[in-house]
Amino acid sequence: MERYFITYSEWVNFLGKKSQQSELMAPVLSGSFLHYQKCQGEELKQVVWSQVRPVQPVKFFFFPYHEEILPGLSEQSPRVILGVTACDLAGLQVLDRIFAQSDFKDPNYQKRRERTLIISGDCYAPIDVCFCEKVGLQPYPEKGFDLNVSALEGGFLLEVGSEKGRNFLSELTGLSEASEEQLHQQAKMRNKAKETVLQFNQPFNFPSDLPNKIQPLLLAEEWKEVWQKCVQCGSCNFICPSCACFFLEDQSRGESFEKARTWDACLFPGYARMASGVSPRPHLYERYRNRLACKYVYLPGNFGLVGCTGCGRCIDGCAGRIDKRKVLTKIFGKNPNSVIYEPAKHL
Ligand code: SF4
Ligand code: SF4
Repeated sequence: MERYFITYSEWVNFLGKKSQQSELMAPVLSGSFLHYQKCQGEELKQVVWSQVRPVQPVKFFFFPYHEEILPGLSEQSPRVILGVTACDLAGLQVLDRIFAQSDFKDPNYQKRRERTLIISGDCYAPIDVCFCEKVGLQPYPEKGFDLNVSALEGGFLLEVGSEKGRNFLSELTGLSEASEEQLHQQAKMRNKAKETVLQFNQPFNFPSDLPNKIQPLLLAEEWKEVWQKCVQCGSCNFICPSCACFFLEDQSRGESFEKARTWDACLFPGYARMASGVSPRPHLYERYRNRLACKYVYLPGNFGLVGCTGCGRCIDGCAGRIDKRKVLTKIFGKNPNSVIYEPAKHL
């Protein structure tokens, strides 16, 4: 992989010029949290580099909460998203598989993906809800980006991940080949972040190989207890970088009609309800269990990808203060390899 060093001022000036040609979205501090914000020129000095993922996942840019899907999107102007973390890149991989690589492709999603250049970033400052290391990821991107940025003393280490990324850099002067010392600095910061995530997760005891280990436990009695503080707000679904369920509706607009798509949430009582009014999962514990099964069993089975990236947003945003790491610890009990039930035939 090509790796370059660029000074802070050269990189920010270059992005300033790029922001005149493309819409540039970047993480900026708002109160105590990072949010994506459109940045231009001098505003780029406010961008926060190599920190934890922003509050909203990057899926918001590709799969909006509500949109009219007929007629489809017209041509889109170019967009650059900065500071996408490894956990969000992994979420995007799941969305790509669903909306761009399955038999039924979503043209709006594809257009947005094509127009967008992803400049990811290392996360040097994980927070206590992060558990990427527990689901087989690291707090720094390894694939799925056009460019990756690691903040170093006095500048940035840029890694090229695609032809699109290489083209983006073609007008940037001042690049130098990354030195051994700079690569060492990057590795040091990355290892420190990994250790921090592992330390935060010491109290939790569940295997990182969740897809293989959790299926036999889907009928464990413990599921009937762990959901009890859930108030069905759906926030865990909406804030998740890989949740992709939606419903379609037609609304009349005078002489015409609107066909719209809106996010759905599998914790809602109406989720998957049939025309007869029957719900396949009438009990809340079944819907709660289904969400975790979707992440750790169904998505790996159907698409070969784990649906949870360990971003911790569903822990941070849960109105019932449920920490899913505690739930998993409870389900796996004291012995993380224990098998409570054999897999049921219908699962
Ligand atoms: S399930 Fe929770 S921790 Fe996992 S990716 Fe979704 S929001 Fe993040
Ligand atoms: S965020 Fe928490 S309370 Fe809200 S639906 Fe999800 S588990 Fe339930």
